[in-house]
Amino acid sequence: MHFLEIYITTQPNPKDIETMTQSIPTRLEKVNERIRAAALACGRDPETVKLIAVSKTVPADRVLAAIQAGVTDLGENYVQEAAEKIETLSKETVSWHFIGHLQSNKAKYAVKLFDLIHSVDSVKLAKELDKRSGNVGKVQNILVQVNISGEKTKSGVETDLAIEIVREIASLNNLSVCGLMTMPPYFNAPEKVRPYFRALKALQEIILKKCIPNVSMAELSMGMSGDFETAIQEGATLVRVGTAIFGQRA
Ligand SMILES: *Cc1c(COP(=O)(O)O)cnc(C)c1O
Repeated sequence: MHFLEIYITTQPNPKDIETMTQSIPTRLEKVNERIRAAALACGRDPETVKLIAVSKTVPADRVLAAIQAGVTDLGENYVQEAAEKIETLSKETVSWHFIGHLQSNKAKYAVKLFDLIHSVDSVKLAKELDKRSGNVGKVQNILVQVNISGEKTKSGVETDLAIEIVREIASLNNLSVCGLMTMPPYFNAPEKVRPYFRALKALQEIILKKCIPNVSMAELSMGMSGDFETAIQEGATLVRVGTAIFGQRA
């Protein structure tokens, strides 16, 4: 990546600055409207796209404001932070998603806290989650995170190994593989990330054709504040949006 490119992609655009001065319900309504418009424009039923409000670093009172404005699904990146918020908001009927990098030694907490873990990036982690899910009598829904861009700094299984890894994870009794997740490079540059979204969709279709037992592949978790419309055009069923709902993180 060239210096200039980094510079351009990290400048907040005027739309983002405008967004920051608005309230959570207003921003949420705009995001929902954009999801709806993007889905309809490419001939998809808007109901097939679920918004996950990414609440990492956002305090519980602001998360509650989002829930009261209609958010049903929340995404967190850190187990400890999430545990505290989930406890504080335990009266709310919402689903919690884990989207950050998960260390195997946190698996025992993760299976108690999250409805869907998006970031399973190794067989080792999957086996630990399977064991811990079994201990609490749960079948844990998971997504396999794929490093579709192949960048060394990114988590996720290698694209070339994904099919075999899905097969291996699918054989674990206490996990249910619901689909794939990816984190492409180039935040806020939707046209640049399109090929990566398209590649994840293609991989989903290849895996589907393998008809692996215990694998549904229904979900594609891709798209964030800067590129969720592109992700929807390319088949996302779960979009993970933080900044556009809660404003810029500290
Ligand atoms: C923080 C985060 C998001 C949300 O990013 P925004 O740009 O704030 O919408 C989505 N997915 C993952 C994995 C994240 O860590």
